Amino acid sequence: MTTNTQSAHIIDGVALSQKLRADVTTRVQALKARGITPGLAVILVGDNPASQVYVRNKVKGCEDCGFYSVMEKYDASMTEAELLARIAALNADPAIHGILVQLPVPKHIDATKVIEAISPLKDVDGFHVASAGALMTGMPGFWPCTPYGCMKMLESINYDLRGKHAVVIGRSNIVGKPMALMLLQKNATVTICHSATPDLKTFTLMADVIVAAVGKRNVLTLDMVKPGAVVLDVGMNRTPEGKLCGDVDFAGVRQVASAISPVPGGVGPMTITMLLVNTLEAAERAAN
Ligand code: NAP
Repeated sequence: MTTNTQSAHIIDGVALSQKLRADVTTRVQALKARGITPGLAVILVGDNPASQVYVRNKVKGCEDCGFYSVMEKYDASMTEAELLARIAALNADPAIHGILVQLPVPKHIDATKVIEAISPLKDVDGFHVASAGALMTGMPGFWPCTPYGCMKMLESINYDLRGKHAVVIGRSNIVGKPMALMLLQKNATVTICHSATPDLKTFTLMADVIVAAVGKRNVLTLDMVKPGAVVLDVGMNRTPEGKLCGDVDFAGVRQVASAISPVPGGVGPMTITMLLVNTLEAAERAAN
C-alpha cells in the first residue's frame, strides 16, 4: 500500500469546540437580553465514576457558556417511579429547556422508559423515539450529540459528502445508526458495519470517510484504510497502561488518511459542545 509521506490533518475537537462554544455564548447573551436564560437539567442516578466525570464536564460546559444548569444527583436506590416523577416535574419547568439523564441508569430502572418520559421538546440528548423519527424523516428535532459533533468536524474541514462513500462501524442507537442517517442526509452513500460484518476491511478499504464507533482498540488499522480517506474516531477505550485511546490505530492510520480525529481531543469534547448547542436551540425554540 502507498502511504502519504506527510501525515494526516488532525481534526482538533478541542479547538473546534472552543470556536463553537464562543458562538453559543454569544447566542446565550442575546437570549438573556430578551430575559431568557437557557437551562439544562442533568440527572445522575448512582455513583458510576465515569458518569460522574461526564456529568461534571457537561455542567461545567453549561456554566462556561452562561447557561442555567441544575445537577440532580440521586442514590442508586432511587426507584423508577421517583425518577419518572422528577422528569415530569422538569418537563413542566419553564426554566429548564433541556433534560439529560446520564446513562447507564441502575439495572432496576428501565432506560427506555426514562428516555421516552422526557419531553421531545427538551430531549437535548436526541435519544427519544420522536427525535430518532425526526432525524430519519428530515424533520426538525434534536440530533444525538456525538454523531452531530462528527458532522461538525467534517464541516470544519469543508468536506463535501456528496458522491462519497462513508462507512460507519457500529450500529448503536446513540452513535452508529444516527451517524449513518446524518451522512445519508448529506448525500453520502453509506455502509453500516457491525459485529456480524464479515471481513470489515473489504468495506473500509472502499471508504472515503470512516467513522469508527465500536468500543474496541485497533478496530481500524493502517492496512484497512484507503489513502486519502477521512477518519473519525468515536471510540473510548483504555490501553493496557490505562491511557485513553480510540478504536483507531492512530499512529498507523494517520500515515494514510488525509484527515483524522484523535482520542483524546477529538469527538469527546465535540459531544459536550453539541449538547450545549442543542440546549441553546431548545431555549431559542421555546422563546420563539
Ligand atoms: P455499543 O452500543 O456497544 O455499540 C458498539 C457497536 O460496535 C455495535 O453495533 C457492535 O455491533 C459493533 N461492533 C462490535 N465489535 C465489532 C467489530 N469487531 N467489528 C465491527 N463492529 C463491531 O457502543 P456505542 O454506545 O455506540 O459506543 C461506541 C464507542 O464510542 C464506545 O467506545 C463508547 O465509549 C464511545 N462513545 C464515545 C462518545 C464520545 O463522546 N466520544 C460518545 C458515545 C460513545 P453489534 O450491533 O452487532 O453488536
